[in-house]
Amino acid sequence: MKCSRGESFCEGELVPFGNIEISPSAGVLNYGQGLFEGLKAYRKADGNILLFRPQENGTRMMMGAERMCMPSPSVAQFVEAVKATVLANERWIPPPGKGSLYIRPLLMGSGSVLGLAPAPEYTFLIYVSPVGNYFKEGLSPINLIVETEMHRATPGGTGGVKTIGNYAAVLKAQSAAKAKGYSDVLYLDSVHKKYLEEVSSCNVFVVKGNIISTPAIKGTILPGITRKSIIDVALTQGFQVEEKAVTVDELLDADEVFCTGTAVVVSPVGSITYLGKSVSYGSSGVGLVSQQLYTALTQLQMGLTEDKMGWVVELK
Ligand code: PMP
Repeated sequence: MKCSRGESFCEGELVPFGNIEISPSAGVLNYGQGLFEGLKAYRKADGNILLFRPQENGTRMMMGAERMCMPSPSVAQFVEAVKATVLANERWIPPPGKGSLYIRPLLMGSGSVLGLAPAPEYTFLIYVSPVGNYFKEGLSPINLIVETEMHRATPGGTGGVKTIGNYAAVLKAQSAAKAKGYSDVLYLDSVHKKYLEEVSSCNVFVVKGNIISTPAIKGTILPGITRKSIIDVALTQGFQVEEKAVTVDELLDADEVFCTGTAVVVSPVGSITYLGKSVSYGSSGVGLVSQQLYTALTQLQMGLTEDKMGWVVELK
């Protein structure tokens, strides 16, 4: 799907996966004018195909486009394009329980622009790839290091939207953490340097007794769709949920810590390293709350439990 600045996207087309032609002076290549989304399609035992809250991804793309000075497909156009792409690639969707089809919508300034300005033309495309289950045999904990020097986002910046540059900004800290054997990096706020933000590509939750806390959405962290869903699932399961400023001290003193995102769904954190000291959670690192919420959400996404929330979209 293409459109010019100031216009709306109209009908797109389905084409085989392949390279796309783009000018070296395209806005996305020179000034990072690009946004993406990520969601999954699951195959159900009865043959149906399920999407999880695709309207939320469409809405987030629209909000991000506004921040990045780009036109965006409407939520209805977004969802229709996702459905059409998934149905055209049905053969790539793994059998039930064996994984899902990862869907990557991408919006970019594809028109030429030499001086700094919004691009004159935009392209919206979607590609897909089959992916296995993130956890093959039960949950396994990840080990995070709290980053105290580099920041993912600053107030007033673009941390709250899914723009491509945010991901380039985390590569250095993430690569350094991985080289030291950690799974990923947990970022702190750039002003006080003591409040939790998020991990490179997931949101973070801290459990203490019956209270589950997560950093409030205030422009520097991505409003994760899994985060939002887990908050609702946890509330229906009788937990108290607090969206607030969560300190490193609360993190280190927690009973359990977990991350949420489309890829991992719910990922238990086994240990946190902060300023050279490590704290481990539980004996196996897989807390009961993480396990319970992971099971509840994955069962819902795969169509194995009743969808009382109305979150699952059936394609057939
Ligand atoms: N934070 C960041 C920076 C991310 O890239 C993602 C993945 N989209 C998330 C959080 C989790 O968001 P969601 O649950 O919508 O996948």
